[in-house]
Amino acid sequence: MEQRPQRLGALRAALVESGFDALLVTSLPNIRYLTGFSGSNALLVVSSESQPVLLTDSRYAVQAGDEVGDHARVRIEPSSLWAGLRETITAIAGGSRLAFESSHLRYEEFERLGDLAGRWYWRGSVGIVESLRERKDPGELLLIGEAVRIAELALERTVGEIRTGLTERQVAGILEHHLRDLGSEGTPFETIVAAGERSALPHAQASKRELRAGEFLLIDFGARFEGYCSDITRTFALRSVNAEMQDVHDIVREANATASGGIRAGMRGRDADFLARGYIDRKGHGDAFGHSLGHGIGLEVHEGPRLARTAEPPLPAGAVVTIEPGIYRPGWGGVRIEDDVHLTSDGPEVLTKFPRELMVIG
Ligand code: ZN
Ligand code: ZN
Repeated sequence: MEQRPQRLGALRAALVESGFDALLVTSLPNIRYLTGFSGSNALLVVSSESQPVLLTDSRYAVQAGDEVGDHARVRIEPSSLWAGLRETITAIAGGSRLAFESSHLRYEEFERLGDLAGRWYWRGSVGIVESLRERKDPGELLLIGEAVRIAELALERTVGEIRTGLTERQVAGILEHHLRDLGSEGTPFETIVAAGERSALPHAQASKRELRAGEFLLIDFGARFEGYCSDITRTFALRSVNAEMQDVHDIVREANATASGGIRAGMRGRDADFLARGYIDRKGHGDAFGHSLGHGIGLEVHEGPRLARTAEPPLPAGAVVTIEPGIYRPGWGGVRIEDDVHLTSDGPEVLTKFPRELMVIG
């Protein structure tokens, strides 16, 4: 089903509600969401009355026509998009209130808007399109589901090839090869492969360190399919496991299960976060879980809503979020188990199916 008219309609309604006559969209994921355009250089003007206008350069002349169709008027700008913007907004009545995206405009671009001031009132806005993106439509769910399926299959193949003695980077290379082979558009973020004490670094990058028996191997990665991301973490034991490793892994797995089973649309982000945090706390590891429980995924790997101690807004039905509790002990190691969960109005649907039990591999 074609969702773009509905998305543009929802944006226009949001603009009217916020008292704006038009929005200048500079975030590329927001532009892709509204028009389908996936290039790397564009501006989009959506006004409450006329057809949206997409400005891009000649490299994208063919692609923009193909991707956008009649959902926006495409202008190919020979020199600068900002010169084209000036001409585009002259069609909008003087005195109109125009919004720009405060989170996505560089200061030098902001100054260019100043040059365009005078006839219009420019005001910053935060999250107008992002909040629409939080609720996924059926087409988006299919794409995220495919990104999950590719990632899980790639992980399954990789696990069969992991051996002690390989470096973290080699493991990342094997995994990324399988992701590409299975149809992923590259990786949505830098693949994390962290062995032993490095698994205690929540955002470790794959290094030259070799995998050794008797330690953890944490892998956090994703696939991208038609722009949509998955984001999964599993922590394995290499060749053997001791009681302490098993114990910490059990606690994280139970925290993950508690949050994945208990999360509901309508719940505040902080209450969802507490489902896992409270459990880890009661088990005596509260200080070892420093980051937040999760985040929305979609066209970006980190988007709304947030599942964090400070997140007050209720979680919207239709969002797809990660649930990723962890316990990290510097110098020893860490465990994180991350799943992707669709918040339906009837309850949570866990999209990731890869086993969560501590697997001994290598
Ligand atoms: Zn992740
Ligand atoms: Zn994540």
